[in-house]
Amino acid sequence: MFLAELGQRVTEIRGVGPVLAAHMARVGVSTVRDLLLHLPRSYEDRRTPVPLERAAGAGGKSFVEVTVVSLDHLGKGWRATPRAIVSDGATEAALLCFGRSFLGRVLQPERRFRVWGTFKPGRLWPESSDFELESASVPAAAFGRVLPVYPLTEGLGQGAVRRAVRAALDAALPSLEDALPAGLRAARGLPSTAAALRAVHAPGDPGEAEAGRRALAWEELFWFELSLMRRRLPRAATRAPRLINSGLRDTALGRLPFKLTADQMAVLAEIEDDLGAPWPMARLLQGDVGSGKTLVALLSALLVTAGGGQVAFAAPTELLARQHAENAAHLLEPIGVRVAFLSGTVVGEPRQLLIAALAAGEVDILFGTHALFSRDVAFRRLGLVVVDEQHKFGVRQRMAMLAKGEAPDLLLMTATPIPRTLALTAFGDLDVSTIRTMPPGRLPVITHLARQANAEKVYRRVREELDRGRQAYFVYPLIGGPESGAEPEAPSGPALKDAESAFRRLREAIYPDLEVALIHSRVGEEEKVRAMAGFAAGRVKVLAATSVVEVGVDVANAACIVVEHAERFGLSTLHQLRGRVGRGPAQSYAFLVYGDDLTPEGIERLKIMKETTDGFRIAERDLALRGPGELLGVRQSGFLRFRVADLVRDADALFSARDEARRILAEDPGFLHPENAPIARVLAGSPPFPDAVLEGG
Ligand code: ADP
Ligand code: MG
Repeated sequence: MFLAELGQRVTEIRGVGPVLAAHMARVGVSTVRDLLLHLPRSYEDRRTPVPLERAAGAGGKSFVEVTVVSLDHLGKGWRATPRAIVSDGATEAALLCFGRSFLGRVLQPERRFRVWGTFKPGRLWPESSDFELESASVPAAAFGRVLPVYPLTEGLGQGAVRRAVRAALDAALPSLEDALPAGLRAARGLPSTAAALRAVHAPGDPGEAEAGRRALAWEELFWFELSLMRRRLPRAATRAPRLINSGLRDTALGRLPFKLTADQMAVLAEIEDDLGAPWPMARLLQGDVGSGKTLVALLSALLVTAGGGQVAFAAPTELLARQHAENAAHLLEPIGVRVAFLSGTVVGEPRQLLIAALAAGEVDILFGTHALFSRDVAFRRLGLVVVDEQHKFGVRQRMAMLAKGEAPDLLLMTATPIPRTLALTAFGDLDVSTIRTMPPGRLPVITHLARQANAEKVYRRVREELDRGRQAYFVYPLIGGPESGAEPEAPSGPALKDAESAFRRLREAIYPDLEVALIHSRVGEEEKVRAMAGFAAGRVKVLAATSVVEVGVDVANAACIVVEHAERFGLSTLHQLRGRVGRGPAQSYAFLVYGDDLTPEGIERLKIMKETTDGFRIAERDLALRGPGELLGVRQSGFLRFRVADLVRDADALFSARDEARRILAEDPGFLHPENAPIARVLAGSPPFPDAVLEGG
C-alpha cells in the first residue's frame, strides 16, 4: 500500500470508536492517512531523568525520579490538598496535588516514582502542582523515550491520540510501500516514507524527529510540484515549433539612448532561452517600479514578432495600458512593428476593424486592458502573452488569454516582489527572473528610525531638504481624528496622529511659509487632482497623506518621506511608501517615526526597513513574519496549506523538490502518465492543492 491509499476511516484502528473519531474529525483527521500525517507540534524529552536541582531551574517540564519522603495535607476535610515531599537523594521538592486528592493514596512514603513536571521555587522547597507520574516499580510506559505532543481540541486527549497513532503505525507501516522512485530516494539520502513516519511519531531523539519531518515535507513538495507540472504537459504537447528571430530586437537595442543594465541583459537572455524551448514559458519578471521591466518585455516581444508570431500585452488600468502602447509605438513603429491598443472604450467600427486586422495577422503587438480577454478577440498566431502588474488579474483571465493561442509563452510582470516559494506554489509553478538593480544614477534611499518624542528633529531635518528645493511626503495611519467621525484606516489605538489634523499642524505651525496640501481617499476628486498636480509641478512642497500615495505617484523631486506611526504599517506598504522617493538624481531619505506601544513584530518590521532597501529581502521577511496565507490575503480560505511542509522553513526543500520533479519529467515524460499506476494513485490521494491554488490565485 502507498500512503495515499490509506483512506480507511480512523474507526478501523483498534481502540478508536465513533466518539473519539468525531473529536478527531474536528482537527482534520478522518482517515488513517490523516492520522499518520497529523504531526506532533512538539516533543517531550523523557529519555533519562535529570537531577531535581536542575529540574527546579529548567523553566519547562523535566523528567525526575524521586522517592516520597513524607506526605501531609494542606487544609482540612474533603478539600484538603495532599502534599508529598519527595527527594532524588540530593534535593527535596514538594508535589502539590490540587484537585487530585486521590494522589494521597498513591504518594505513600518510600515509594519511588517517575515524574514529569515543572518545578518552581517555593517558600521551603521547589514545588510542582503541574505534573504527571508513574510508579517506578513497573516498566516505563510514558517515560524512557521522546514523547510526541499532538495538536488537540476539546474532548481530544493527548493520551488517546498517542495510542491511536501508535496503533496506526503498527498496523500500516509493515506493508507501507514507497511511492518515491528508489533511485531518487537513495540519491537524496531520504529515509523511506515508513521510516520517516516512525521517526516523526516515535523518534529515538529530537534530531531524528526533525529529520523525519523534513523527509516527509520534501516528499509532499515533490508530489505537489509534479502535479503542478502535469498541468503544463498538455500545453507542451500541442506546441508547434517556435520561430524566433533576434534581428529586430538587436535593431531596437541599437536605437536606445542608453545601455541595458546587467540584470536586464541577463533576464533578456533567460527569456530568449525560454522562447526557443519546446516547453512553454511561464515566467514571472520581478523588479521595482522603474527598474526597466517593460523595456525588457518589449524587446522580448520582438523575438516573437520577428518570427511571425503576435504578442498580447495586458495591463490592469486603461492609463497604464495606454502609456505602454504609446511608449512602444515611439520605440517600435519606426522599425516597422505594428502596434495597436484595445480597451473597453474602443467600440463600434474602430473595434471591428481592429479585431479583423488582428485575426488577419496585421497587428504585431496588441496592448490593452481586460478587454483583451473578450471572446471575440482572436489572434492569427498568438506567440506570447505579457501581463503587467499580474497580481491584478485573476487566474481565469490568464487562462482565457492563453487559450487564444497554441501553448503561447507567458510573461508575468510585477513590482510587488513575491518570495520565490510563493511564485512556485501559489501561482502555479513559475520561473522567476529578477531585476534587482535600477538604471544607473539612482541612489538608494537612506532610512532613519525616530521615536515619536524626537519628531521635531525629523521636521527640522526635512526642513533642510525643503530649503534645498526638494519636496516631502508625510504619511499617517488615519484619515481624520476621532472628533471628525471619520473611520480609521488602521486599527485605532491610543492617540494616533491623523492626516487631517497633521495637515493643519504642518501648514500652520511647522512649515507656515510653504505650501502644504492634503490627500486621502475621502478628499473630493477635483481637490485630489489639484493637490497632485500642484505637487507634481513643484508648487506644493509638502503633501500630507494616508497610504493612498503607496502606488502610482511619481514625483522625482520628492526626496523625503516621513511615515508617522510607522509601526502601524505592514512591511510591503512601508516598502511601497519608501519607493515614492529616490526617483530622481538627489539623495533621498525616509523617516520612520514610531510610537511607544511597539509590538515585537513592529520592532522587527522597522529593523528590516532600516536594514535593507531590497524589496525581495523585505518580501521574504514579510513571509516569515506573516505566513503565506496572510501575505496573499487568503488566510481564511485554507489554500496553500500543506500537511507537513512549511513554506518558510522548507523553502530549500521546495526548490530541490522542484528541480528533481523537472529532471524526472525531462528524462521520462511518461512518469506522470495515468497508466503509471503507483504514481497516479499517489496523486489521486494527495490533497487537491493544484486545483485549489489555481482557483484561489
Ligand atoms: P518598469 O516597467 O520596471 O517600471 P520601465 O521599463 O518602464 O520600468 O523603465 C522605466 C524608465 O527607465 C523608462 O523611462 C525606461 O526607458 C528607462 N530605462 C529602462 N532601462 C534603462 C536603462 N538600462 N538605462 C536607463 N534608463 C532605462
Ligand atoms: Mg511598470
